[in-house]
Amino acid sequence: MNAMIHPAVDNGVKKGSGTFAGGTLVCKCKDHQVKVGIKGDVAHNHACGCTKCWKPQGANFSIVAVVPRQNVTVLENGDKLQIVDSSAVIQRYACKACGTHMYGRIENTGHPFYGLDFIHPELFQEGGWAAPGFAAFVSSIIESGVKPDQMDGVRARLKEIGLEPYDCLSPPLMDAIATHVAKSKAA
Ligand SMILES: [Zn+2]
Ligand SMILES: [Zn+2]
Repeated sequence: MNAMIHPAVDNGVKKGSGTFAGGTLVCKCKDHQVKVGIKGDVAHNHACGCTKCWKPQGANFSIVAVVPRQNVTVLENGDKLQIVDSSAVIQRYACKACGTHMYGRIENTGHPFYGLDFIHPELFQEGGWAAPGFAAFVSSIIESGVKPDQMDGVRARLKEIGLEPYDCLSPPLMDAIATHVAKSKAA
């Protein structure tokens, strides 16, 4: 089967330039677009199957990465941004007009990922950002309507394009979370 992962990777994962210095994320509006400036390259870029991430229509996965929060600056039309769910751990700032999530921020200073903002690199008007390296929360796409019997095909396709499928985050990120928990317990 030809599983639709995400338009940015369905025809193969495009390698990063290795020298991406940052750029501008632009929402999907025709005019008065929300623009968010990002300094430097993205990290931990991956495909995500969770139900909370913003994804383009028809895609089963988002493409999502992190950048240090101090590297994120709203440049234009910030008045169009609103928080999708203020009770969520990640405060996702979306364009009120087109619904595109521009960045997600964690305000809980005790959270393992505090200090990192989540962004969707496909919104960069520039190319060359670090490529996605794995797929997270793969089983969760069933919650978005994918049939369980389609999952073998989805996982096979992810492997084929080099995005190792995991049903949570990747082992290095799970280890980072556990290390944070262990340290805060010891403190
Ligand atoms: Zn918009
Ligand atoms: Zn997600």
